[in-house]
Order: sequence, then C-alpha cells, then structure tokens
Amino acid sequence: MTAYPNMLAPLDLGFTTLKNRVLMGSMHTGLEETGDWNRVAEFYADRARGGVALMVTGGIGPNLEGSVLPGAAMMTTDKDVANHSIVTDRVHQSGGKIAMQILHAGRYAYGPKCVAPSPVKSPISPFPPSELDEEGIEKQISDIVNAARLAQQAGYDGVEIMGSEGYFLNQFLVTHTNKREDRWGGSYENRMRLPIEVVRRTREAVGTDFIIIYRLSMIDLVPNGSTHEEVVQLAKEVEKAGATIINTGIGWHEARIPTIATSVPRAAFAWVTKKLMGKVGIPVITSNRINTPGVAEEVLATGCADMVSLARPMLADADFVNKAMAGEAARIAPCIACNQACLDHTFGGKLTSCLVNPRACHETELVIEAAKTRKTIAIVGAGPAGLSTAMTAAQRGHDVTLFDRAGEVGGQLNMAKQVPGKEEFRGLVDWYRTMMADLGVKTELGREVGADDLTGFDEVVIATGVTPRDPQIPGQDQKNVLNYIDVLRHKAEVGKSVAVIGAGGIGFDVSEYLLEDGHSATTDLPLWMKEWGVTDPARHRSGLAPEGPQPATPARKVTLLQRKKQAHGKSLGKTTGWIHRATLKMKDVTFVGGVNYERIDDDGLHISFGEERADPTVIAADTIVLCAGQVSDRSLADELMARGISAHVIGGADVAAELDAKRAINQGTRLAASL
Ligand code: NAP
Ligand code: SF4
Repeated sequence: MTAYPNMLAPLDLGFTTLKNRVLMGSMHTGLEETGDWNRVAEFYADRARGGVALMVTGGIGPNLEGSVLPGAAMMTTDKDVANHSIVTDRVHQSGGKIAMQILHAGRYAYGPKCVAPSPVKSPISPFPPSELDEEGIEKQISDIVNAARLAQQAGYDGVEIMGSEGYFLNQFLVTHTNKREDRWGGSYENRMRLPIEVVRRTREAVGTDFIIIYRLSMIDLVPNGSTHEEVVQLAKEVEKAGATIINTGIGWHEARIPTIATSVPRAAFAWVTKKLMGKVGIPVITSNRINTPGVAEEVLATGCADMVSLARPMLADADFVNKAMAGEAARIAPCIACNQACLDHTFGGKLTSCLVNPRACHETELVIEAAKTRKTIAIVGAGPAGLSTAMTAAQRGHDVTLFDRAGEVGGQLNMAKQVPGKEEFRGLVDWYRTMMADLGVKTELGREVGADDLTGFDEVVIATGVTPRDPQIPGQDQKNVLNYIDVLRHKAEVGKSVAVIGAGGIGFDVSEYLLEDGHSATTDLPLWMKEWGVTDPARHRSGLAPEGPQPATPARKVTLLQRKKQAHGKSLGKTTGWIHRATLKMKDVTFVGGVNYERIDDDGLHISFGEERADPTVIAADTIVLCAGQVSDRSLADELMARGISAHVIGGADVAAELDAKRAINQGTRLAASL
C-alpha cells in the first residue's frame, strides 16, 4: 500500500495513458543551446528512468522573432527535427514520455525583432516590440503550428503551447498589453481569438493522437490582468479547440509578487487551479512550490488538480517518483527553491544545475562511478562541503568517517533554517542526515579532531568552514554587540531597535529573522497572501488585492548598514534579491550605505560618511549585530600542512569569499567523484 495513491494513479488520456500524475514542468536549462544533443538526451532520459509520467522540454522558439534570446533553440528545420529525435528516442528507450514546449516570447523576447499585439514595452526587457499587423499575426500562428508539426515528426508525444507567464499568447489576452481595436483586440472574445486559433490549428495539423497541453495563466498578478471568469471562459474554449490537458501558469514574469521562491509557501497557488476543477472536461495540472511527494499527494487528494507539475524538484532528484513509489521519500534530494543554481544561472546566461545536485544538466560530465579501490577517508566538517563529499564518497564504496565539533550535521545550514522564509533548509539537513545513516558514513559528532586523529586514513578532507570576520570597530566588545551566530544559533536576546552591520546574504537573513516574532508567513498562506497583496482572482481581477500589500507589523526597528555606496542587496541572487529587498522595505528597514563605523558605546552605533568622515551620526540601537562577512577556518589545514600530512581543503576553509552552499556542495561532490 503506497502513501501516495493519488500521485501514483495512472491517467488515461484516451489514446495514451500516463503512468502516474507527475509531470516534469518546462525549464530553460540552456542544454539545448549547447548543441550537444547527447547531453540533452541524457538529462531527459535520466528523469524518464526516474519514473516521471511526462516531461516538458524547455521553451523552444517557433521562429526568430518569438525566441527568448537570439541564439535560443528553435524548431524550424529538418536539422532541428534530427537533433530532437536523439532526445525523444532516448526518452522512449528509457520508458518515458516527452512533450516539446513551444514558447513564443512576444515582447519578452530579448532582441530587437520582438513582436507583440501592441507596442507596449515590457519592464523587464530593453527592447520595445513591434506591433503585428494581420499578416504578421497569421505568420506567428503558422510558425507555431509548424513547430508542433515538426515536433511530432521528431517523435515527441505532444507539445505544450506556452500561454502563460506573460508570454506572447498571454499578451493578447489582457488589456495591459493588448490595445488593439481590430478582431484581435477589444472585447475578450477578440483578445482570446489568438490562443484559441493556435490550439485549433495545431490540433488540425497533428491529428487526434498527440498530446496538446495548453499552459494557461490562472492568476496574472499584474495590473489589468484576466478575471477568473475570463480564465474559465478561455479554458473552456481551449478544450473545445482541441487541447488534451490544461497546465497552470502563475503570475507574469514582470509581476512583483514572488511565485516560486523559497519564501513562497508550499503549493501556495494550488487553490487557484482548484477553482477550474469541474469546469472543464480535460485534466488540469497545478504547479508551483510542490516539492515533496507528501505535498503532491495532498494537493491531488484535496481535489486541487488531476496532475501535479514539478520542475526544479526534478533537477534536485531525477528519481523523485521511483523513490516515492519505493516508500523512500526521505531519500529524495529536496529542492529548497533557492534558485541559486537553476534560475539564477539561466538569467545569468549560464547552464542550469542544482545546488543540492551538481549532476543536474551535467549528467555526461560529472559521472559518479564505483571506486576501483576502497579507501578510508576522513572528512572534518559536516557542513554542506563535508556532507556532499561524504555522501558521494560513500556512494562510490569508500569507507568514510565524518567528524564535526558540533553535535549535529549541517554546519551553517542550521543557521539558515532558522530564518523565516528559509524553512526548506530544514529538509536539506534532514536529507543529509538520512543519507549519512543509509550509506554507512561513520559520523563522529561533538568531536574536535586534531592532526593526530587523522593519521592512518588514505585521504583527509578539510571542510572546516568559516569564522566571522572581525570588523575591529572600537567598542565592539560591549554587551549590546552580538554576531550572527549569537543571534541565529544561540538565540541571544535582541532589543527592539537593532543596527545590523554588513548587508551581505547574512545581514539580510539576520534582518529578516529579527523582523519576525517567531511566526513565518511562509508557513501561513493567508498571512503570506495578505503581506504580498494576493487575493482570489474571482474577488479582484488578476488576483491583486485592491488594498495592496498589508505587511504585518515588524517585531523590531532594524537599520541595515554597509560601507559600500551601491544599492543594498547587490550580492544577492539574481532572481531572489528583489524579494529580500522588498521584504525588508515592507517592514520599514532603514538602508544606510557609504558609512564608516566610528565606534560603539551605550548610545549606540556611531557612524560617519565618506572619506572626510562627514556627518557624524548615532544610530540609537539597543543591539548591534555584526554580519561583516567571514574568513576561512584553516587552523586544522595549517596544522596538517606543518606536519607534512596531505589533505584536500574545500568549501569555506578553501575560499571564504562569496562562499555559498552551491559552491561548497559542487566542490565536495566533484572532489569525492575523483577520489
Ligand atoms: P558577504 O556577502 O560577503 O557580506 C559581508 C558584508 O559585510 C558586506 O555587506 C560587507 O559590506 C560587510 N563587510 C565586509 N568587511 C567588513 C568589515 N571589515 N567591516 C564591516 N563590514 C564589512 O558575506 P555574508 O553576508 O557573511 O555571507 C556569506 C556568504 O553566504 C555570501 O557569499 C552569501 O552569498 C552567502 N549567503 C547567501 C544568502 C542568500 O540569500 N543567497 C544568504 C546568506 C548567505 P561593506 O564592505 O560594504 O561594508
Ligand atoms: Fe531547487 Fe535550488 Fe536546485 Fe534550483 S538550485 S533546483 S531551486 S534546490
């Protein structure tokens, strides 16, 4: 008897059956653009072997003007068909099914040739789009239909027509971007003509036995978006036009409401999809922040959808479904929704990977094989660098001992998981703990080791991490001065007004922690919706609350300081930094930059500005928290070196600057793959 009867139930589509209710949602990995189709094929085949019922590729352009970027993958030629056939063949041999997403980006296309219903520039692209005339619209339809036909030739089981997230088809639907007065604009019937025509003509071109998924924006989260009635009307018309399945889209890319970041509650938008259930006769898929089999099962069991779409969790663990089927959910590498190695890479022009699984999109390059000789390996430090080394080394068959002076595994992850909005880190630590036990890693916790303890091992790995940087501010030894470890780990008492010194990742984290009084909106969906101004789209168009965001009263008055003059939070993630900045602004945090720290005394923190140390000011804080960065803890590494014992030094102990769990885990995994 499985714990996930709904998630693992097959879904009969008439002409074909999906073996369970899990779809791998579309992700722009950048793999297709490498031109290495064997690599693309292995990425998808790995996930097909992992048991997912149906996968959707990253967005493939139907023509130049609609492609997300110049040079982005398209489906327009026989050569494209041949390349994509490598992928579909490998997926089918692996027992999977795959659909190609056709993505016409419209005014989101990052190039001067972009086109749209009306010449309304998007706030997230520098390129103003050209308005399409009747002939231009016809060309776009026939290019999309042609891409579907070619996808069928290439062996795909279906296509997903991207109609959400503010892309081309979505742009026709709403007056926010469609100002036309011809038969493609004006009334809602006219505005939805294009998506319906696209689905109708695609069905005509591909025949009956081919999956057409239409990705429909259920809640636009931008001004003048669709009403719920319009969404239902469109869904019904899309069904009539020949779609097999409706998939859910949440929010346009330009929306200023987070929709997938780690601070968004799990399954936060499943209730929106549920509103469509029973109104159409075809299966409906829900998505966003569904990252465990338990959450997926709950969403399906409560009738929110017929299927769930998981995208990033499939980067974190290709075997998600198989492990759930085998009753091994605790062994699934959890997606913590950090975006650090996936979306931040995509938007930084880098190939996607995954913070918890560096093999994602690197399947052919980072190969983890059984070791030829079993070695004894000592690893000092059970933070992300040490844990990932231990896990991979043990998977390869080595005899691994992991030491840490702390009484628990996780290192700095244990501080991150205290921060409101970073609850997912708890699952990551739990997973590592499970894996250490499963793989027979000998964990010696609460044990400080020296060089003498490390003789006799074949390999020694030093992952001792970092210690806080000493900012050497006169008066910092006062009672009212703490550092981030005192606050996050030791839960030291903090006053009502706080000055946080250092506005890096940890300064932001500490500020967010201090603004809450132990209750996180991430675990309280109604509160989260209120704070961000999200409402039922049946109550107000687009799901934007007319009263706007209503943040809860902050628990403290926080001032966040840095010496740099640049805007606060520049070092934060590309796709998540704006959320942290917005959160702090909502909670009335004062950002002060370009400061010199003069001294600390009973009055608070004395600062001045610029080289001339002008405008001396006192920030009258009850508590001052030092978050001034970190330096490598190399004491053990240096001791070993002095004794002539060779060791591998990784993670923060290797380089402290810009250390994050992504680099630590990647470095640890790659080292272990080579030992
Ligand atoms: P960080 O990002 O390097 O920030 C250190 C802060 O301290 C900066 O604001 C810096 O700004 C200030 N600083 C540096 N030297 C100082 C000195 N001598 N006196 C006073 N202030 C000084 O380091 P972190 O905040 O400790 O974070 C460590 C790593 O963890 C980062 O690389 C970060 O990526 C990662 N992390 C990431 C997240 C995330 O959300 N992705 C969250 C937490 C941590 P000024 O030099 O301008 O004063
Ligand atoms: Fe999930 Fe982070 Fe991995 Fe992206 S990088 S898949 S968000 S864990």
